[in-house]
Amino acid sequence: MALSTGRFGPRYGTRTKKIVAAIEAVQKGKLNCPYCERSALRRVAAGIWTCRKCGVKFAGGAYTPRSATAEAIAKSAQG
Ligand SMILES: [Zn+2]
Repeated sequence: MALSTGRFGPRYGTRTKKIVAAIEAVQKGKLNCPYCERSALRRVAAGIWTCRKCGVKFAGGAYTPRSATAEAIAKSAQG
């Protein structure tokens, strides 16, 4: 894998790498909106995300758009 997290070395766990990769994706503006699936997701505050395309605003993780809590809420909302 040629992930940009390679410089952090092997002492960081997979979870940390995933979070770092997500943070870098946010900073580069490459996160996909979970609603319209276009890469227009922006973090407006800690845990608050908004999509520039469809205008949706939702709560997620502080550094990634989907936290474990957000996943649970999304699943219960779909049911
Ligand atoms: Zn959207």
